Parts: sequence; structure tokens; C-alpha cells
Amino acid sequence: MSNNDTIPDLAPHELALLRQTIALSEESKARGRHPFAALVADEHGHIVSQAGNNSMPPEGDPTQHAELVAAALAARKLSPEQLARCTLYTSAEPCCMCSGAVYWTGIGRVVYALSEHTLLGLTGDHPENPTFSLPCREVFARGQRKVQVVGPLIEAEAAEPHRGFWQR
Ligand SMILES: [Zn+2]
Repeated sequence: MSNNDTIPDLAPHELALLRQTIALSEESKARGRHPFAALVADEHGHIVSQAGNNSMPPEGDPTQHAELVAAALAARKLSPEQLARCTLYTSAEPCCMCSGAVYWTGIGRVVYALSEHTLLGLTGDHPENPTFSLPCREVFARGQRKVQVVGPLIEAEAAEPHRGFWQR
């Protein structure tokens, strides 16, 4: 897919932000972490927070998924009204824990690259990442507040950092 491709529901600068999370996921892998990353940007595309995966002890812990960390950092900086206008961009679809973090921080929208279903195909039953088979839309559908979701997008690009990573 070229940079000139248009995607419904996504402004061109948003595709750039999504690609940035994929680049950050490579950096996360280079640091010895799992290849996941996320960022939160406001309605103008200004980055509020970003994070790579930090789920491996002793530096991190299993709750330190990139999306949860990025959402929590954004919630410390912005008001609820501002958060409602923000989007969380992530290299892979948020798991139910991270979808919960998006919901509870009040972030209004999620844009993801790899679907959880595709990710499950890549990670299999790897003990470090026993991926749920639970789309984030199903989690958000049970909430009282609406969260918009766009994805999956550019999955082949987003899968690249995972190639060979989860083989045992
Ligand atoms: Zn997660």
C-alpha cells in the first residue's frame, strides 16, 4: 500500500500516525520487548502520549501493554473533554484489558492496524502472549459510552515486526 492510498474514515495524517506505531513496535522489539506500540493524538493529530510494550519483568509487568500505558499517560495530561476528542492509534487491536483502559480514560476513538484475530494467528499459544480471541468492538459494545473503532488497516505492514518473533 502506498502513502497515497485513501482509507475511509481515516485522514492521511492519521495513516502516518498509525504507521508511526508500527515503527515504534519495531523499536520496542529492538529493546527486547514485545513488538507492540501505541500513541494517543488529539483531534489535530498532535501526539499526547506514546508507549511501547513493557510487559516483561523485572522492568515492566504484564499489565504494561502499550495501549494501556499510552492511555494512562494521556489521562494524566488532558481533561475528560479533551480525551473524548482524542484517538488511540495502535499497531495491534487493543485486548480486553486495554479496551477497558480506553473506555475508562474516556478516549473517544481507536484506530488499529493488526486485528486481534490476525495477531492470534501470529502468536499462537505463545506463553508470553496468549492472545484473546475477543474483538475490541465487542468489549466497547457492552459499555455505556460510545467508542468509535477503525480497523483493521495495513495489516501486512503491521505484521512485519511479528514475523518470526513468536516461533518457539
Ligand atoms: Zn492489551
